[in-house]
Amino acid sequence: MLVRDRGPALRVVCDDGDAMSDQPAHRADLRIDLDAIRHNVSVLSGRASRSGARTMAIVKSDGYGHGALAVARAALRSGADSLGVASLGEALQLRAGGITAPVLCWLHAANDDFAPAVAADIDLAASTPTELERIIVAAEQRDRAARVHLKIDTGLCRNGCPPELWPALVEAAAKAEADGRIEAVAVWSHLACADEPGHPSIDRQAERFQRAYEQARAAGLTPIRHLANSAAVLTRPDLHFELVRPGIAVYGLDPVPQDGDHGLRPAMTFRSSVVATRRVPAGEGVSYGQTWTAPRPTTLALVPVGYADGVPRTLSGRMEVWLAGRRRRVVGRVCMDQLVVDCGDDEVREGDEVLLFGPGDRGEPTAAEWAEAIGTIHYEIVTGLYRPRVTRTVVAEEARGTAEGP
Ligand SMILES: *Cc1c(COP(=O)(O)O)cnc(C)c1O
Repeated sequence: MLVRDRGPALRVVCDDGDAMSDQPAHRADLRIDLDAIRHNVSVLSGRASRSGARTMAIVKSDGYGHGALAVARAALRSGADSLGVASLGEALQLRAGGITAPVLCWLHAANDDFAPAVAADIDLAASTPTELERIIVAAEQRDRAARVHLKIDTGLCRNGCPPELWPALVEAAAKAEADGRIEAVAVWSHLACADEPGHPSIDRQAERFQRAYEQARAAGLTPIRHLANSAAVLTRPDLHFELVRPGIAVYGLDPVPQDGDHGLRPAMTFRSSVVATRRVPAGEGVSYGQTWTAPRPTTLALVPVGYADGVPRTLSGRMEVWLAGRRRRVVGRVCMDQLVVDCGDDEVREGDEVLLFGPGDRGEPTAAEWAEAIGTIHYEIVTGLYRPRVTRTVVAEEARGTAEGP
């Protein structure tokens, strides 16, 4: 079926094959624009390939809240040739969804069993000699060489091998590779301040990274290197090496807007619709605490989304929505299930579409604007929104979309 919107007709198909309702009225819906994902991945992989690098699209945390499987498929069709996730469970879910491309996962729990990962041909990061040893045991169990990416901590002091353990890690990897237990695919690391171009830590990390790579080569390994997240893909072509790992930029959110317009398109639109309107006289207080009082007679529109649906309560008094042709203020407190929009004397009706945020094409707020208003980053806004009462609808110009219910 077709959902009409600004621009071309979009096709939306449910997972179970049922046609979606034509009604634009949604309680709370995340609309994911797969064409935007494809566009962003081709921008990013285009930059990478100019440096001779390949692209791993990062789809951790359910594709930053956009839907890991749909994003993964779109990314693999648009220039990415591998995928990255944090946890083993996320990696196995991609395999269960039919993804056959290389998938790397890097953040292991002490009780993660690597044997199913080796069997499913998942690339595994090793951050310590102990972790590598566990991977080798799993490879022996499955009688199959595990694909391992050796992670050096170059200054984030988080996940990754502490420098003092690195010689032991590369020696053990070289021995395991010689024994046919592993393939040491890569040496890699992660940047702390790539979103602050020119930050001195970036070059310092790059130097440590190069030294760690040379130690791996000296131990007899022939790995590729990967270091760049989205910000470094966009600002540091000299750090692309053989592979880049963009995450946030895949979703069209720019981690370095101060560097200029990179031509990314936000893929997520958060929509709802008006469930009731009412006229109130001047002097009426609105919502819990009556923190806002109508200064004149006005029409209020009730929108059935609140902080339980991911609208931060701290946006109370500081947010606008796009409704009936323009932006309007949300007044009073954001509640658990609802918020109230001041519409003045304009005509607003039940069922009217409300855009909480989107790419900004129609003048609606953006996820970056929400983040700015409450002192966080757009990453946190989009990853927190897919919740029990929120639906997610994946749309594309071609008939490849899926819709997911709560
Ligand atoms: C999340 C993550 C990325 C992607 O970072 P973005 O800033 O979203 O591009 C890359 N590598 C690692 C190890 C990560 O954890």
